[in-house]
Amino acid sequence: MPEAPDLQVVLEYLQPRLVGRVITGARETRPLVLRNLTGERFSDDIAGRSIVAMTRHGKLLFFELSGDRVVLINPMLTGGLRYTEPDEKLLKSVTVTFDIDDGHQLRYFDQKRMGMVYYLRPDQVNETPRVEEQGPDVLDAPMSLDEFKTALRPFRGEIKGILTRGRLISGVGNAYADEILHAAGLHPYKKKTALSDEEIARLQEAVYRVPLEAFNLLQEKVGENIHKKERRYLKVHGKGGKPCPVCGYEISAITANQRVTNFCRKCQPGLLVRN
Ligand SMILES: [Zn+2]
Repeated sequence: MPEAPDLQVVLEYLQPRLVGRVITGARETRPLVLRNLTGERFSDDIAGRSIVAMTRHGKLLFFELSGDRVVLINPMLTGGLRYTEPDEKLLKSVTVTFDIDDGHQLRYFDQKRMGMVYYLRPDQVNETPRVEEQGPDVLDAPMSLDEFKTALRPFRGEIKGILTRGRLISGVGNAYADEILHAAGLHPYKKKTALSDEEIARLQEAVYRVPLEAFNLLQEKVGENIHKKERRYLKVHGKGGKPCPVCGYEISAITANQRVTNFCRKCQPGLLVRN
């Protein structure tokens, strides 16, 4: 579930607390999430390494460690990080813990254990699924409209799918795609080839504005609770059956591949098929 705005809040909270610190120990508390590609024993190999830098690209977090090691976190749908005192109760959802030299712990939790915590060498990062294929980050400096049009050219299919796949722009998932398309007044299942120039311009504007506004809002709301999912402020995503905040019409909910798509049929007119 964490998308670029959510993860950027986590990153900016953790950076001043972790960069420059030493990991004194780490362990896997539940299997399936940690993928250690170094060939060394995880707990032994990571102990004593310092956190040199933390970065984010799209929906991935990178911890650059001293001595050529990287921790790459892909939280997928249910993963997240908790920064705690070590005596705080260890929840069942926690799969990997890191002990920090100032006495804190960083815990990766994942209810469904669909996410991945990679431990690797820097040269292995690009071999990791989803790393190479990511487009520029959605919170980076926006592409101009001409650049956006050019970048959009090779893509086919429905516009929501193009946004969430991450190749055009990285960091937009199911929730923010719904929000962006609502802001742009575009039906989520509209085909890219059916978009007019004016619709592409609306899309380009919303793609950059909506996640940035969300990030600014989240940074205020989340505070220290980086492990909590804050989604109440969204306009349409997760609001099926409720009135559209723009026009008052009931928000639609369509589920496909276990993902719900929410949109307003009045603000986002289009297709009679698939509705
Ligand atoms: Zn509406």
